[in-house]
Amino acid sequence: MMEKTVILVKHDGVQRGLVGEVIKRFEQKGLKIAALKMLQPTKEHAERQYRLTPEWISKLGEKSRKAAAEKGQKIKESDEELAKKVQGWLVQYITEGPIVAMVFEGYHAIEVGRKLVGHTESRQAEIGTIRGDFSVDSYALADMKQRSIRNIVHASSSKEEAENEIKLWFSGSEIYDYTRKDWQVMH
Ligand code: GDP
Ligand code: MG
Repeated sequence: MMEKTVILVKHDGVQRGLVGEVIKRFEQKGLKIAALKMLQPTKEHAERQYRLTPEWISKLGEKSRKAAAEKGQKIKESDEELAKKVQGWLVQYITEGPIVAMVFEGYHAIEVGRKLVGHTESRQAEIGTIRGDFSVDSYALADMKQRSIRNIVHASSSKEEAENEIKLWFSGSEIYDYTRKDWQVMH
């Protein structure tokens, strides 16, 4: 139940001065900062963050085909071609300037982190979530502008993803173990 999750404030969040706001929301929810740093991701790092896994490729294909069908259009590219294109945009997005990388720890931290962040497409993200409160973007707009969705923040979406991302962004000595005293009252 006790989990660690990786939260990245992407460069649009840094440029917009939203680092403090993101940290505040995670801290006030009761998650503990276990690691925190600013860094400039390399292309290699970015490609490892956004790996072209079979699940991601098929999810993206399905989502894109559905969106195109709603507009009465048909996508000619294969799922792989589509995923490669979006991954290229993503790598560009995550390497465009310094980001803030963090590990938050707490009970159900991965699920809670995803809830705090909100839906991938800012347009669908509920008000009250970070993406819902601070961004307006859509698949349609991002595709038209040939770029990734600008949604401020990344949050690990599974245990496996969190474990890989912790190893990707942090060394063991950068992750801190200490007690958050209010947990005695909260839990
Ligand atoms: P997340 O876990 O909610 O961030 O979403 P994903 O892991 O599915 O995708 C990673 C990031 O890629 C998202 O945060 C968006 O910035 C971007 N992205 C995802 N799907 C699309 C898409 O269909 N089109 C575009 N342009 N960008 C996308
Ligand atoms: Mg994701």
